[in-house]
Amino acid sequence: MDAFALLADETRAGILRELAAHRRRDPDGGLAFSELRERVGVRDSGNFNHHLRKLTGRFVADTAAGYRLTPAGTRLAALVAAGFESSESVDAERIDGTCPGCGSPLAVSYEDGVVTVACENDHLLPQSLVQPPAADRDSEGLAAVASLSALQTAECVAAGVCTVCDGVVETELSRTGHEVLPFAYVSTCTVCDTPVTVPPGLVLARHPAVVSFWYERGVDGFETPVWELPVWDADERVVEEDPLALAVTLSLDGDELEMRLDADANATPRE
Ligand SMILES: [Zn+2]
Ligand SMILES: [Zn+2]
Repeated sequence: MDAFALLADETRAGILRELAAHRRRDPDGGLAFSELRERVGVRDSGNFNHHLRKLTGRFVADTAAGYRLTPAGTRLAALVAAGFESSESVDAERIDGTCPGCGSPLAVSYEDGVVTVACENDHLLPQSLVQPPAADRDSEGLAAVASLSALQTAECVAAGVCTVCDGVVETELSRTGHEVLPFAYVSTCTVCDTPVTVPPGLVLARHPAVVSFWYERGVDGFETPVWELPVWDADERVVEEDPLALAVTLSLDGDELEMRLDADANATPRE
């Protein structure tokens, strides 16, 4: 039985939820059969046992201390907690910060598992797929999740890791045809087929040469929201055609740092 079929039943979802809640109170302990059954709220012990048996082994371990979640069960319990259905959507709300493209105020919104930060001229900052609990925050909190998620996505693209399933991704550097942000890394997971698009500047934002170049000039690249990072006005030039490679010049306080980005999103300082 696959994970989704397992979760279709409220008793099985309840078992995972109660075991996760118990672990928070008692990290080393487990729950005895009758205790677990009472917490899940099932009277019929035969029926409860039938559902518990479906989870035991791969998702729930039957140990001397009682029933506990396995690592796979922990993942499944997190899916139950996050919920498959999207949270209520959040209409665009103003946040601190201005659009790096046009200087207009920015707003954050959430709909169907996607968080968007954009200005009134529809200049979109990288959109991120997030889990529904991300929307259970105020607008500044939701914007912080969007910023973190955009940077994590860029890190994952650079490392060749899928942000959703941790599978191997294939990445391509391509021309977007837009005047603002003319290049983008488009990366697709070979396992779950999820596509992500990342501007080259964000890949640079986690390179140590770039982080220290900013830090020495008073910008903390880990505290600053992505829309305020000094990457959006960077000068990007093609230095190789096939495969495409870029030279990117970052400027701050009158100083410059030149980086090279290749087709696989590997970054290196240019001498
Ligand atoms: Zn704008
Ligand atoms: Zn994937």
